Amino acid sequence: MNTKSPEVNLELLASLCKTPGLPGREEEISFLIRQNIPSPWQTQQDALGNLIAHLPGKGNRLLILAHMDEVGLIVRRITPEGFLLVERLGGMHITALPGNRLCLWSNGRCVPAWVGLPPQHLAAESPIALKDIYIDVGAASGKETREMGIQIGDGLTWDSPLVRTDNDWVCTKALDDRLGCYILIALANLVTKNSVPYDLYLAFVVQEETSTHSALPIIRSVNPDYALGIDGTLAFDSPDVFHQQTEIQIGNGPAIKWMDAIRGKSATYLPDGKLAKHIQKTAQQQNIPLQTEIVSGLTTALNLIPFSQQGIKTAALSIPIRYHHSPVETACLSDVQHLIKLLLCVLSQPLNL
Ligand SMILES: [Zn+2]
Repeated sequence: MNTKSPEVNLELLASLCKTPGLPGREEEISFLIRQNIPSPWQTQQDALGNLIAHLPGKGNRLLILAHMDEVGLIVRRITPEGFLLVERLGGMHITALPGNRLCLWSNGRCVPAWVGLPPQHLAAESPIALKDIYIDVGAASGKETREMGIQIGDGLTWDSPLVRTDNDWVCTKALDDRLGCYILIALANLVTKNSVPYDLYLAFVVQEETSTHSALPIIRSVNPDYALGIDGTLAFDSPDVFHQQTEIQIGNGPAIKWMDAIRGKSATYLPDGKLAKHIQKTAQQQNIPLQTEIVSGLTTALNLIPFSQQGIKTAALSIPIRYHHSPVETACLSDVQHLIKLLLCVLSQPLNL
């Protein structure tokens, strides 16, 4: 198998990031992903909406997963004046909301929406709370808002098309974890039948932003010997957070995770040490840059997988992203290419740990 990673298909990445995939409402993003999985991969969807692609082969059952949902908002009230009040679906960045554009998804189409804020002349210095967030859709009354077809329960995403810089940085919403989805699609197109010593599964997970349980149905149906998770992680290379937890930077390669945790909750993820070391060694041998991740404040769809079935060996690889859960998530395409190459190298040898 050729382990050279091709150029990133920017058109595909842009449409993956643009397509809505709110937690529990992943139909559109799932459809787009499925369209980009070539034969002879077999695809199926479980009752929760998780999408699984399978390339039957000889060897251990290896599952690689990424999540396809994104953070967003849900309408909980329409005011008599026509504004929308909202609740968060996942960790939507509240500070980034005022003054920003959103897409309100109503009957499959994007209704332009934007988040109101006091005029600069009257603006308070204190940080904003979710209860103070109100969304404008260009309607003068609640009646007008409803006449636009907008209902309580409708979902909203950032409206933030992808931009690419000359040095191959990208900025858009939902790089977390559409970069992971892109990487899995790239693998599906690069790994051909009998080219790897695995019975290989790629899974696109729903509801990761709102639950740590959503990959469990996949584990029950695939029963993998090994599972690898691909997701974004926090870059600590901008002034607000410089070197706060790690020295991870965008553009210095993907990262291998040694721990993540959500503060205050018993949700600590630890990889299988041998599997993580094996991946680290593979990167060293192939001269692929690989950073080291130990982070608190987040976890991923892998969180419960080590404890499922009779115990499962897992490892996590991450793409560093700046400004997580905001409309301007920023990453480096070279990190994506290096991660695809690393996965191809790992896949080229059987695991015997
Ligand atoms: Zn994520």
